[in-house]
Parts: sequence; C-alpha cells; structure tokens
Amino acid sequence: MANIEEVEQARSRIQNIIHKTPIVHSQSLQEKWGRRVFFKAEHLQKTGSFKIRGAANAVTNAVSNGATLVTAASSGNHGQAVAYVANELGISSVIVVPTDASPAKVAAIKAYGGQIEYCGTTSAERIPHAKSLANQLSGVYIPPYDHRDIIAGQGTVGLEMVEQLPDAEFIVVPVGGGGLISGILTAVKAKRPDILVIGAEPALANDTALSLERGEITAIGPTETIADGLRTSQPGDLTFPIVSELLDGLVLVEEQEIIEAMRDIAARTKQLVEPSGAVAAAAIMSGKAGAPGQTIVAVISGGNVDLPRFAGLLNAAETK
Ligand SMILES: *Cc1c(COP(=O)(O)O)cnc(C)c1O
Repeated sequence: MANIEEVEQARSRIQNIIHKTPIVHSQSLQEKWGRRVFFKAEHLQKTGSFKIRGAANAVTNAVSNGATLVTAASSGNHGQAVAYVANELGISSVIVVPTDASPAKVAAIKAYGGQIEYCGTTSAERIPHAKSLANQLSGVYIPPYDHRDIIAGQGTVGLEMVEQLPDAEFIVVPVGGGGLISGILTAVKAKRPDILVIGAEPALANDTALSLERGEITAIGPTETIADGLRTSQPGDLTFPIVSELLDGLVLVEEQEIIEAMRDIAARTKQLVEPSGAVAAAAIMSGKAGAPGQTIVAVISGGNVDLPRFAGLLNAAETK
C-alpha cells in the first residue's frame, strides 16, 4: 500500500514540474450553498488537471531508471499530462487514443509533444496496445491510476490542502479509478486523521459505490456520464484496498447536479471547471456531503472543457 513517505518523496520529485495550486473561496457561493466551502483549484494546474502530479512522479522515476520513452492509453487528461511531462524531461511519448478521439484533445496532446497512435474505441483495446508499444520500443507504460507512483503523486494534493487550510474538517474528492482519492487518503490520514475524507461519484458511474457495498471490486457497463474523467468501469487493484480501508463515505451525484455546480462556480467564482472537476462541488451543493458550519474543501480536479461544450451543457440543462 502506498505510504506517506512515498507521497513526501513524490512532492520533492515533482515540485519543479507542477504548480502548487491555490485554494479558491467565494463568499457569494458560500451564501448560496449555505456551506463554508473552499476549492482546491487543480483546474489551474499545468495541463489543466491534477493528472500531471502522478504522471510527473511516474515518468521521473522511469527516467531515473533509464527510460527514454513512455506510453499511455488516454485521449484525456492523463494522456496530456504524460505527453507534457515526457517533453519537459526530454524523452519521447506515444499516446494511444481511440479512433473517435476529439480533434481538440488530439491537438492538445500533439502540442505537448506527444506522438499519437490511434487504436479501437475501448480502453480494453487501447491499454494492451500501449503496453505492447512500450515493450517493442523499450519504453515504459504509464497507467492512469493503478500504480504506486501515480497514487503517491496524486497524494501531493492532500499534503498541500492540509497545509494551506489547517482548519479543514471535511474533504470531498471525485472518484474515477481512485488514484486521486487513494493518494489524498494516504496523505491526509497520515497528517490529519481527524479530517473526514468523502468520495463523490456520478450516479451513472457508481462502480466504487457498488464495490464498497459488495466488499469486492465490481465492474459496471459502459457509461455516458458527462463526467468523462470518471467513466472508468471499476476501481483499481491497488486503489480499492486503500479506499476500502480509509474512506469515510461516498456519495452519488446526478448529471443535473454536476451541471448546476459548474454553472454556480462559473457565475460566482469566475472559474471554468470541467464536468469531472465539478463532481465533488456538486456533492456539497446538493447537501449530500458536508454540514453547515463545517469547513469543507472540495477538490476541483480539472478544467479541460472547451467553451462550446461548456455552453452546450448549460443550455441543455436550462431547457429541461
Ligand atoms: C482522472 C480524473 C479524475 C479521477 O481520478 P482517478 O484517479 O481516476 O480517480 C477526476 N477528475 C478529473 C478532471 C480527471 O481527469
């Protein structure tokens, strides 16, 4: 299991690559939601999401073991993060994306210096391809969440939060494959075991909720939640034991609540947040996580949504 020493070590490894992100607060949003809420602003992170923390830790480690090439299977935030970090560290990256990947995402990966390789439409096709490419090219495959270096890197979000907001009582984190929340749990429960840590998942992608209920890793079918960073079908072999042991609770949010949270955050704090990035905030806004009077921190995990999609989601919600 990942431990606090690994998170501390990750912090010193990645500090020159990543931003230490601010905590954002809005009095007007606090009044509207009736909650003393703060946001850990990972949408302001380099490459637009926290994924660069784990990627920076894993790729730095691979480079110190002699790697000159890394591969990943993701057209989203993980793919962008791995391409960016590889380029910063002066090595090559090959990012395997689905044949129907959006041109904007492909362009972002290329702009960060990643080579694109198209493969299939499912992660079940892409992951083996990225692994075998790594083998063929004597490179290292970098997974998105189920890896000690990734978990430790994401844990640096937790270290920063407890230092930046020592009076925090309640932390809410979005859950996909569980790398982010496992890292945060590892850091926060070591430093401040008194702080409650709650996960938030879209009701349409409730694999971790189901797995916790059944006490074993449980997969769900394909999901179309707008929170595309949280569409993983099941928790990881390394992340699930951490979540099972340390998590204080998990809440589910509806699609409409995610959109409302995105809208409120934009209107009141002037921040642009992607759907996955708004899931923890939606849990607080809807009253499912955190009580009045508590000092609550929501992790805003990413901001990579283009303006037409952002506008489209808000408009579709208005006309419902
Ligand atoms: C990947 C991602 C998540 C989920 O992180 P996991 O480590 O897979 O649980 C949440 N939000 C955004 C924006 C992401 O890119």
